[in-house]
Amino acid sequence: MNKPLIIGIDLGTTNSEVAFVHATRPEILRDGDDGILPSCVGVDDNDRLIVGTKARNQAVAYPERTVLSVKRKMGEEKEIPLAGKSYTPQEISALILQELKEKAEKALGREVAHAVITVPAYFTDAQRQATKEAGAIAGLEVVRIINEPTAAALAYEGSNAGDDKRTILVYDLGGGTFDVSIVRIEDRVVEVLASTGDNRLGGDDFDDRIIQWLVRELKQNHRLDVTDNRAVLARLKSCAEKAKIELSRADTTRIEADHITEEIHLSVELTREALEEMIREDIDRTMRSVTKALRDAAVTPGGIDRILLVGGSSRIPMIARMLKEKLKIDPSKEIDPDLCVALGAGIQAAREMGVDTSGVLIDITPYTFGTSAAEINEEGLDPHVFVPLIQRNTKLPVSHTETFYTMVENQEVALIQVFQGEKQNALDNILIGSYQFDLSNSEAGSMITLQYDLDLNGILKLEAVEKKTGRKLNAVIDNVFACENPDRIRNSREKINGETSMGAAETPGKADPGTATIPADITGTLTLAREKLDNAAKEDQDEIIDLMEEITDAVEDKDFEKARAICDELEDLLFYID
Ligand code: AMP
Repeated sequence: MNKPLIIGIDLGTTNSEVAFVHATRPEILRDGDDGILPSCVGVDDNDRLIVGTKARNQAVAYPERTVLSVKRKMGEEKEIPLAGKSYTPQEISALILQELKEKAEKALGREVAHAVITVPAYFTDAQRQATKEAGAIAGLEVVRIINEPTAAALAYEGSNAGDDKRTILVYDLGGGTFDVSIVRIEDRVVEVLASTGDNRLGGDDFDDRIIQWLVRELKQNHRLDVTDNRAVLARLKSCAEKAKIELSRADTTRIEADHITEEIHLSVELTREALEEMIREDIDRTMRSVTKALRDAAVTPGGIDRILLVGGSSRIPMIARMLKEKLKIDPSKEIDPDLCVALGAGIQAAREMGVDTSGVLIDITPYTFGTSAAEINEEGLDPHVFVPLIQRNTKLPVSHTETFYTMVENQEVALIQVFQGEKQNALDNILIGSYQFDLSNSEAGSMITLQYDLDLNGILKLEAVEKKTGRKLNAVIDNVFACENPDRIRNSREKINGETSMGAAETPGKADPGTATIPADITGTLTLAREKLDNAAKEDQDEIIDLMEEITDAVEDKDFEKARAICDELEDLLFYID
């Protein structure tokens, strides 16, 4: 009997592809086309569901009958209206997956029921689950979900087998998501050292900035307000994207749209320079993520051998320019940024089928996991100190054991809690498991060991052992990578806490933040700046001091958002100082 085939799928925000390893090379599967399927779903004039190019082509004329960028909605509960009916994001994605499955079956001449699907590194559990569910709806068992930058690196490794050790920066900017990863390849082993990003940033945002500019143009020059006109906005979206893509090649372009109203025709010129101004803040944000990824991976900018560009939006020339300025090397152009991820998914699919693809993929945990313990310090008893057992960016699988001691005489139970996060106060992290461990009423100071084992599939096994009696507690938590995006939750929590405590400390007419009310990340940056100040060159010292003062001013004004923005700038500067 034939072994079941497994295909590799890049389910992108804008486009999707399917790949398969033939002999030793991954190939994009085609059906008389270029293999790129627009991730669009629509309903045609005859009320039939349509997928891909057809759906994309009707998007301008029938926005109410077309769904674009559904990937941005994955994991959300809200249904998507489409021509009088409503669908879950999984259902819409399943239609795209079904199309890819059929394409693969035609190309391979066999039924396909298994797939590896890629997702952005920072997709939450809900989003990963929704992706799996979409596969199931489409009749595909998702045997593995892998992160997009990991897949890209695999594709790169495949085309450079035999090369020496190198450290690669994967910069992946697509239609709706951004990831940057530091990947090390050595002896054909691919290892992801760090990964960070923003799952709400991409080419769609750049289109939006151009649309906003066009809306303003229409208001100023034609006294026409199209803010609420969906049909016109959809047309402007298409014009904006076309112009944006053209400006990756040319210095100027003309945006033209006839009959916005009966007598109004839009015709304006947009330069690359103007577009760069519109999106500069977004691109700066991606560059700050690059710095963060380097820092997380403990790699200096000079330690990067290659820059790999992935995703359609990475073709914007400003990005290569800024990366070159930052890392002093030109980004590689060997692999098509649109196909890289799908090719890597194809390689992983081959591995799942037991095909020898020489390189070995090592994944990392994107989150820190730990427990809560009581601690007595100078200020008294702190009942919820976070003790990390597995640190973010550690290679998987990983196992770690810590020893704890009971606090009181005749202690009957110990509460073993599992948290995901990095905050010192365990309660500020996300609780993902809580277990009562019955003890043998022994004296205070009895030893308990706690072991966490985390595997590649996000299964966390926990074992607590009471040393004296050998009594054990075992627990398994599935899908620990499926928790909510910790950064977002952390930021919201800090925002709320910051505002509440500031409110309490405030006296009328006077804002006195006091160190206790400054969020920890901001104090952290200020402390780091003080530590590094002496080692900085004179001109850097002046700039550091200026930025520190600006941060303090922003904190005094209770403008934490501004303070954090300046912190980012300061951290960029500090990164280059020992
Ligand atoms: P992806 O999600 O990787 O398929 O990327 C799609 C995004 O890339 C869309 O926002 C496209 O408009 C954008 N894109 C594709 N080609 C280019 C280009 N040459 N210049 C700028 N953006 C592009």
